Amino acid sequence: MCVDHSMNCVCGFSSASFNFRDEVMPVEVINRLYCPKCSPDIALNAASMIRDNGWIIDFDMDVARFAGQRLQPATITPEYLFDEGYCTWRGVHPTDHIDSVREREDLVKLSRSNPKKYIEEFKKWGAERMSRLEREGWRKAREAE
Ligand SMILES: [Zn+2]
Repeated sequence: MCVDHSMNCVCGFSSASFNFRDEVMPVEVINRLYCPKCSPDIALNAASMIRDNGWIIDFDMDVARFAGQRLQPATITPEYLFDEGYCTWRGVHPTDHIDSVREREDLVKLSRSNPKKYIEEFKKWGAERMSRLEREGWRKAREAE
């Protein structure tokens, strides 16, 4: 079971949706979120932050270690939280669930008029989308390799 949570970045320009695998981590594990507009001035602290294509998530590592006691506390790092899905984007990137719905709208129309073609197009869309996201440099798109 995953819980979704949306959060605004520090400058307020953007927001991102997060997913919390198995509800191990509380929402408070996210200390701050920086979008590509407000991240450039931030010095990356690898002990608590992870960077993904211009976005920075700053974790509260005390919360993470406390909430993660039944995991393996020694291995709890920002990468671990993000890559294992305990606190990660909902989807491949911060606004993925919004973008992919929009991108899919045309396909949905096609599904009504031509179901067979729809399946072909849908597969193509999925593959092209992942390679585009990988080119853009999103961490979770690279992982999917
Ligand atoms: Zn921002």
